[in-house]
Amino acid sequence: MDNQYGVTLDREQFCCSVCLDLLKEPVTIHCGHSYCRSCIESCWDRQGEREEYSCPQCRETFHPRPVLKRNNMLAEVRGASALGSVPSKSRISKVLS
Ligand SMILES: [Zn+2]
Ligand SMILES: [Zn+2]
Repeated sequence: MDNQYGVTLDREQFCCSVCLDLLKEPVTIHCGHSYCRSCIESCWDRQGEREEYSCPQCRETFHPRPVLKRNNMLAEVRGASALGSVPSKSRISKVLS
């Protein structure tokens, strides 16, 4: 994959382990793994009868079903060039420090 952003990014951090593509509408769940919202939603829809929800990557289980929050840092990096907006440097450095 070409690096369009001019910075070294950890590919895993920006790829969804369900669809193996770049994250679309990235959400991060409680264990710290990130997925496309639609991927993790459909994954958990299939798990629904068991009343517990697990991370497809590390198998950590959650109950009740977590509320998915948009991962703003990943979304900003992904969307910055397309939307022409400037990522919040202060917020990113806060997250990384
Ligand atoms: Zn996905
Ligand atoms: Zn996980």
